[in-house]
Amino acid sequence: MAPVLCYHRIGGALELGVTRVGRSVFERQMRALAIAGWRTLPLRGFAQRIDTVGARHAVPPRHADPPQEFLLTFDDGYASLAEHAYPVLADLGFTATTFLITDYIGQANTWDVRYTWRRLRHLDWPAIERWTERGFDFASHGAAHRRLTWLDDAAAADELARSREALVGRLGAVAGHAIAYPFGAVDKRVERLAAAAGYGLGFGGVRGDSGSPLHLPRVPVYMWDVGATPLGLRTDALGAAGRFVAHVANRCAVGTSIMRGVGYRVSGAGG
Ligand SMILES: [Zn+2]
Repeated sequence: MAPVLCYHRIGGALELGVTRVGRSVFERQMRALAIAGWRTLPLRGFAQRIDTVGARHAVPPRHADPPQEFLLTFDDGYASLAEHAYPVLADLGFTATTFLITDYIGQANTWDVRYTWRRLRHLDWPAIERWTERGFDFASHGAAHRRLTWLDDAAAADELARSREALVGRLGAVAGHAIAYPFGAVDKRVERLAAAAGYGLGFGGVRGDSGSPLHLPRVPVYMWDVGATPLGLRTDALGAAGRFVAHVANRCAVGTSIMRGVGYRVSGAGG
């Protein structure tokens, strides 16, 4: 059973958005998971489990045995990941999959004007290649972070294809296998266009669409709990409640004030 966690930014400058997690909080979360016996899956390993068992496999389980493997993902590909997140993960023997906005690789986040009050840089190709060599995975988060469900067929297909071509051209075929839809926005039409563009896996919001590998659910980490295990990896009623809250709050995207309260509670938990 392999749930999928999603983060946006780790560390770096403070901003008005709620998608940033402090480095110390992130480090504590990852260390707690490692000590509890959790391991991260490479994207290829996760994809193999989907192929053999089906997309239902990615849904957080509801039985008593806690899962011990998860896919750790980052959206947007900010440069601060290489400084604050990847080294923490490498120390623990963890890996992660980062979904890149391919038009903005090595550029500032001018696509994100609403959520930050200062310009932030994205990872550049040399950093991406360096971390690929160390076993980290990279995949698509669209070409320009446009909401695909709002685009007509031609524009959505262009976003999907342009991003995939950039990734495959630079990193090889494996980087063209997965996409995390910007804003988690996906419907049957977008699923179809993603498949036509050559993607095999698509990550959406908290709910997902059980049975479709192109609409897999993820759990954002801004709804972290006081316990050592993030809500998305919990099997009890609180985990289910957390997933519901996240769905209402904005599906793995941005735009609530939950983060500050959660950060406070995590700090107060002392562990
Ligand atoms: Zn995004």
